[in-house]
Amino acid sequence: MAKILPIRIYGDEILRKKLKEADLKDPFLKQYLPDLIHTMYERDGVGLASSQVGVDLRIFVMDPWWAREEEQKNPRVLINPEIHDRQGEQIGEEGCLSVPDIFANVNRALKISYSYYTPEGEHIQAEAEGYEAVVIQHEYDHLNGVLFTDRVSTLAKLKFKMKLKSMAALARDGVNIMQYPEDPQ
Ligand SMILES: [Zn+2]
Repeated sequence: MAKILPIRIYGDEILRKKLKEADLKDPFLKQYLPDLIHTMYERDGVGLASSQVGVDLRIFVMDPWWAREEEQKNPRVLINPEIHDRQGEQIGEEGCLSVPDIFANVNRALKISYSYYTPEGEHIQAEAEGYEAVVIQHEYDHLNGVLFTDRVSTLAKLKFKMKLKSMAALARDGVNIMQYPEDPQ
């Protein structure tokens, strides 16, 4: 059975780390990947990166078109991904499970070409655009210790600067895991 992994929140050090390359043969992945996918869906995410659950590996999962009501799940696991080319520009509102209650417009490339390994070891080269490209860029940033709030203009950032500060202070005091109302205390 896959389990829900605790989500690390803003201020936790691992969210700022450049994560390590994953070894496709690592036996840890066998249980971890289903857990990561399960956690993404249970927390209503369209993407989830390893650092967000405290794991130092260049792996993220995504399902940009998933909506809970329709239950059409199509999870993708991207291991050691690379973004090779970025073209054009788009601006859209983003949020992040690790940065609760903050949403802001972020500038992203409109089109990207990228590659990754599947859990089966297949090397995939692909292109994405629009919303799918946003999700990939957001999750890929996580692998390099970058959060969407880093990409928000200084002026727009003023609105939530204090919120970030208090989250970081809580994390320093050891409150670095997201509590969900539905979870047993
Ligand atoms: Zn995120």
